[in-house]
Amino acid sequence: MYRGVIRNPSVSITARQVGVLALPTSPNTMQLGYISKFGLQAASASVLATSAAVDSRAAAERASTSRMPGDSTVAGVRSAYIHLPFCKRKCFYCDFPVEAVGRDTTSPKVEARMRAYVDTVLREMKTTKRLGTGTLRTVFFGGGTPSLLPPSLLELLLNALDVRFGLAPDAEVSVEADPGTFDVQRLRQYRQLGVTRLSIGVQAFQNELLEACGRGHDLPDVVAAVEAVQAAGMPSWSLDLISGLPGLTAEAWRYSLQRAVEAAPDHLSVYDLQVSNYARPGHRCAHNQVYWRGLPYYAFGLGAASYLAGRRFSRPARMREYTAWVDTLSANGGDTLPGGYLPEESQEELLLDTIMLRLRTADGLDLAQLRSRFGTEALATALRALAPHEQRGTVLALDGQGRPCSSAEAAMNAAQEAATTPMPPLDAIPPAAGLGRGQVDYQQPGGGPRVRLSDPQGFLLSNDIISDVFAAFDITKATDYKGTV
Ligand code: SF4
Repeated sequence: MYRGVIRNPSVSITARQVGVLALPTSPNTMQLGYISKFGLQAASASVLATSAAVDSRAAAERASTSRMPGDSTVAGVRSAYIHLPFCKRKCFYCDFPVEAVGRDTTSPKVEARMRAYVDTVLREMKTTKRLGTGTLRTVFFGGGTPSLLPPSLLELLLNALDVRFGLAPDAEVSVEADPGTFDVQRLRQYRQLGVTRLSIGVQAFQNELLEACGRGHDLPDVVAAVEAVQAAGMPSWSLDLISGLPGLTAEAWRYSLQRAVEAAPDHLSVYDLQVSNYARPGHRCAHNQVYWRGLPYYAFGLGAASYLAGRRFSRPARMREYTAWVDTLSANGGDTLPGGYLPEESQEELLLDTIMLRLRTADGLDLAQLRSRFGTEALATALRALAPHEQRGTVLALDGQGRPCSSAEAAMNAAQEAATTPMPPLDAIPPAAGLGRGQVDYQQPGGGPRVRLSDPQGFLLSNDIISDVFAAFDITKATDYKGTV
């Protein structure tokens, strides 16, 4: 897979870790034109943010303990990322934790390596403290090339997650897959295990480009992969492209976009220095919403990053060190919170993270939530910084009914909403009716007054706009951003 900024272990989208100038840029107009023609809605740099439905007990528990949207100290952790690092070979551009196993991916030697790794991950799961009582609603197997993993090993991991953390029967379970590493039979086995979503790393529709970046697949593999996912009846699938490959011409890019939309995926990710996602209604990747909303998640495996109890923690990225780390956890008796010794993110960091993440989604920044969680001063500062961009038309404001309005009106609506309606916890929005398995929690945007970047101009200037907002918050001053409304 090519890792965009939202994928674990490169979940490095916090203001503190990335810095706004290193933020990804936004979709170009050519891709927007092609993709919107085929009914895929812009989602990200506008990835779509929503929420998890939870049982009322967990919601009440969260409401009583939450500090802010996405507060990872909340009782219920609903998501888990599992890193499966095996690839046929290492692509030239890849800097992710990967173990190259060669072309003979089913040899006893390779299977033994995978089995040993899975055993280590299972031990890590057993030692990890369960936070809260709710069940997991999204699971994401990323890599590496997770589709190299035999279904029997995937089953072990899913069973272990269920035993240790609880797995909701309608959980979204995503698996990243590379062309040339699976067939329809394997996908049907995955389906039987509860996999609901496949993310296929096509990257390009030109053999010369695939070869130039050292991919382990070619164009016939891509065609076979698309046929297999369609035949397997996967409820949702994504096609991934890379827009910045060396030697990529405008003509070749146009051709790749055209072939991608003709393949009729439910979701399309376009990676460059950015990640941009587009989805058909009802096919947002729920797990990615967790990242964009700043919600907590477990993570397991080589180099994987978790976000628990306000702490982001990355595991060792070398196999020997990772195994030794798990050995130490096990020897200490388990039930630990990885990275529990690290300092929690400060309220100011959380504020900037929230603004940055939400402004990079199609849903935008909910002003009532911002006001409720960080206070009137934070809201006013953000809107002051956005005002020049609103005048230029690159920032739009919407009232509580989704109608265009001025940001001043939206702020007034937010104040009224805060005065009359208790703010629900972000993961307490009930599931939308009529949506299928794994798609119930994260598909609908919130309905509150909000500001968002315009499409495409605002997103094309997103780095500048977010930089201006950051500059307006002088976090060296002792301003209280603790939601003292
Ligand atoms: S296929 Fe493997 S080596 Fe290539 S980019 Fe993806 S993770 Fe990296």
